[in-house]
Amino acid sequence: VQNIQDRRLASARPRLVLKIIKGLLNQHPQRLTGLTFSSPYQLLVATVLSAQCTDSRVNSVTKTLFEDAPDPHALAAIPRTYLESLIRVTGLHRRKAGLLKKMAEMIVKRFNGKVPKTVDELIELPGVGRKTANVVLAQAYETPAFPVDRHVARVASRLNLVISERPVEIEKEFTNLLPKHQWVQASDSLIQHGRKICRPLPICDRCCVKVFCTYPLP
Ligand code: SF4
Repeated sequence: VQNIQDRRLASARPRLVLKIIKGLLNQHPQRLTGLTFSSPYQLLVATVLSAQCTDSRVNSVTKTLFEDAPDPHALAAIPRTYLESLIRVTGLHRRKAGLLKKMAEMIVKRFNGKVPKTVDELIELPGVGRKTANVVLAQAYETPAFPVDRHVARVASRLNLVISERPVEIEKEFTNLLPKHQWVQASDSLIQHGRKICRPLPICDRCCVKVFCTYPLP
């Protein structure tokens, strides 16, 4: 009897996850915006700069940066100290300048000056992890991808949408379950839910999927 119950629960789970994602998509139908960019290269640079920095501050810096370094060739050639001064207000400027220079050099040498279009190639670039790679694919190349950041991980865990806590496994669980055309929007809606409502201290009264939540409510 226990086995039958377990099997029933297991087969009901995907339907429940899809239902919750549908609710989140309804509550957050708009696409995620924040960083200003007009090419995959620009989004890549902006995303590296956004570590521990607000999007608006990054946008104020990249406006000037992209005039001086409009492509990977120019960024690879820009003097390191000048680059550091340009990006200083984003914090961790020495480390970020080093990563950006190495990243630009690799794009020029290994990828002929073009930002690659696969996760495996993107994560070869210094400073680029799986989340950034998926953001570039989803937002700049508009190809199916499922970025997992801390918001996605928190919301998914509180709603019991995933079994694992590891970002790579969370990505796998969602991409196995959701149709490809929903990946980007589903990730966007989880991120927005985590930023606006299911924050570290959640505002559960405004949550459209509260009825499904098993998290101990505040
Ligand atoms: S009910 Fe609260 S804790 Fe649960 S998902 Fe919604 S906001 Fe997060």
